[in-house]
Amino acid sequence: MFTLLLACARLGDLLQGGFITWPGLVVADRFDFPVGNGEARGYYDAQPFGKNRHLGADWNGKGGGNTDYGLPVASSADGVVVEALDRGGGWGNVVRVVHRLPGGELVETLYAHLATVAVNEGMLAPRGALLGTIGDAGGQYYAHLHFEVRDRPGAPLGGGYGTPDGHVDPTAFIGAHRGASPPNVRRAAHR
Ligand SMILES: [Zn+2]
Repeated sequence: MFTLLLACARLGDLLQGGFITWPGLVVADRFDFPVGNGEARGYYDAQPFGKNRHLGADWNGKGGGNTDYGLPVASSADGVVVEALDRGGGWGNVVRVVHRLPGGELVETLYAHLATVAVNEGMLAPRGALLGTIGDAGGQYYAHLHFEVRDRPGAPLGGGYGTPDGHVDPTAFIGAHRGASPPNVRRAAHR
């Protein structure tokens, strides 16, 4: 519960006057995929949004099995980390990043089952920056990235399946927000 409260406190800091106010944070004018050098190159979505009432995308390496274990997970867009911790259960390590869209709206991206976490709460997470690595939530699954996009930052974690409650189709969202800005990206290095 402390961690959730901490996340909310961070959001409170961010939301002064209805706008994100965080030193150095820029508007997220472009979103990329969190794997495969921003393009999901070499990956496939094994369980798209809505299938089996799934509330995210499950990015798996095309090599199958655990061939993607330990590969980099990158921030989808410029934002600030509001959660970075082990949530246990079926989640394992979770990172959440909040982004401010050009119109001022906030969205949250969520990255789960991570093997390692490379960021802390409150850190800026530029688009393409390393957040952690693909994992299996302590051996519960074949390694993959569970990735969500939510339009209500700070909502409860939930269970990853069910009726969308602020969850949007992450692949459709990214497709609609690739933007046209030049590639000012610090890419997470591919191993
Ligand atoms: Zn999933």
